[in-house]
Amino acid sequence: MPEEKKRSRLGVMGGTFNPIHYGHLVTAEEALFQFNLDKVIFMPAGVPPHKTDKEILPPEERYILTVIATASNPDFFVSRLEIERKGPSYTIDTLLELHEIFGPEVKLFFITGADAVWEILTWRNAEKLVELTEFIAATRPGYSLEKFKKLHVLPEDKGRVKGKPKVSIMEIPALAISSTDIRRRVRENRPIRYLVPEGVASYIEKSGFWKD
Ligand code: ATP
Ligand code: MG
Repeated sequence: MPEEKKRSRLGVMGGTFNPIHYGHLVTAEEALFQFNLDKVIFMPAGVPPHKTDKEILPPEERYILTVIATASNPDFFVSRLEIERKGPSYTIDTLLELHEIFGPEVKLFFITGADAVWEILTWRNAEKLVELTEFIAATRPGYSLEKFKKLHVLPEDKGRVKGKPKVSIMEIPALAISSTDIRRRVRENRPIRYLVPEGVASYIEKSGFWKD
């Protein structure tokens, strides 16, 4: 009997990454391990539909920071898909496009923080994603999982919302790090060392981001 080809498991970590920090990296690494993924693709957003202020670095700079941060991990990759797309990026379009690119042999896992996953359940057209994507929602300090329990999306498969993609909750070591706090620290000349990889801190400093 011919051996059935193993479906590869691809994590997709979406975000603004303005800048990328250890919260993102720990989340991706833990998803890689807990969900037995083959690799994780970081997907910096082009023009995030919900964030339009001038604090957001140009996509190219956020892409560079993401490459610097992930360079040492052989299972981490960075995609230019969203930053090269014209206009705002919607995660649902990206996932559908990735499915087109990779085909049915690749199973997609969208990795997100507990704060962001909430939107997924209310996406229009989320039914389209049921077959091709699962969602991994990482715990994040300050965001309660209680409301998920109320919606019966926990635990795992049981009682999952009909027609909506599967959402698994993933416990990660709590890191109360956010890009917002990092930008504030840079502006106030407070340290960001140990919150972001060394190369990221150096690139931010030499470029003078968020100083004016
Ligand atoms: P900002 O403060 O600008 O919103 P952020 O730190 O939330 O930035 P994003 O780029 O918005 O970073 O986040 C990308 C993804 O990573 C989101 O799904 C978010 O929930 C998740 N994430 C960010 N920080 C953490 C963290 N410390 N722990 C777990 N998940 C996180
Ligand atoms: Mg955020």
